[in-house]
Amino acid sequence: MNDLGEFELIERYFRHPTPHALVGPGDDCAVLPAPAAGMALAVSSDMLVEGRHFLPTVPPRLLGHKALAVNLSDLAAAGARPLAFTLALALPRVDASWLEGFSDGLMALAREHGCELVGGDVTAGPLNICITVFGEVPERGALLRSGARPGDEIWLSGPLGDARLALEAFRGKVELDGADFRSTRRAMEAPQPRVVLGQALRGLASAAIDISDGLLGDLGHVMRASRVGARIDTDSVPRSPALARQPLVLQRECCLNGGDDYELVFTAPADAATQVQAAGERAGLALARIGRIEAEPGLRLVDGAGRPLTFESRSFDHFRS
Ligand code: ADP
Ligand code: MG
Repeated sequence: MNDLGEFELIERYFRHPTPHALVGPGDDCAVLPAPAAGMALAVSSDMLVEGRHFLPTVPPRLLGHKALAVNLSDLAAAGARPLAFTLALALPRVDASWLEGFSDGLMALAREHGCELVGGDVTAGPLNICITVFGEVPERGALLRSGARPGDEIWLSGPLGDARLALEAFRGKVELDGADFRSTRRAMEAPQPRVVLGQALRGLASAAIDISDGLLGDLGHVMRASRVGARIDTDSVPRSPALARQPLVLQRECCLNGGDDYELVFTAPADAATQVQAAGERAGLALARIGRIEAEPGLRLVDGAGRPLTFESRSFDHFRS
């Protein structure tokens, strides 16, 4: 690959200390210690493709951050503690300043969460980033999509819709003033995975999922897996000041169907509400209660006054949109 060879490239940008791994990057396999007794490994992969998951204009540092953030978000949704990750990268060319920015953004988030880069692969090709994360979770304590029960309350870890609003601004479909564009763009390009909250919800949440494809679609996964229905008060779904300045129809579209939010939506028995609030505080997040799980299948949306709302749930689907 150009003047900088594949192995020098790995050495320069992707070789970082791995105090937890028994063997880190540089050999045929990474070797990780087995989890302690009673603990299990949680594993998840996410791929980011240029033009599909990110715009060609995104600064490499933010891309590095986001590539890992979306993976850590899956660990968060399972209540797992991040341990390590691998990085498979296809690069159109060796661009030192791009690699430096990408690696900086990636490794800053990795260090923040104590998640080691233990190996991967690099090849020439259209820009494509695939990360696999490994986390630790109690053997029978992972948060799943299947545990929601009628009567459980539905909670959200933070405001939704900004990433979608920024995307609409990039597409030229809405116009935002400078400050709103910057804040929503930050939400789209630098999402913060709710890793601390996920672990704080172990033994407390009955079901959880992270919002990558839109609240209604992702909550739909919980409903199907748990064989339950839900009622959501759409006005209680928190949104940023930037989104709240938009017309109500756009607000609803962005926060209910938007996607790319990487907040957690989870359920918990009503009598656990105080503990849930405390878990939110420990994680430094203002949690919002947005509805209830019901036995009757299907999703019922109401506005703040309790009036039924018809709103199509259009979860993002790579093969349909
Ligand atoms: P092999 O040919 O045996 O699959 P590679 O030549 O692909 O090995 O990689 C050499 C070493 O560099 C391996 O230990 C691999 O895990 C590591 N590696 C490759 N790409 C990356 C990357 N993007 N980040 C971290 N380590 C990497
Ligand atoms: Mg290889």
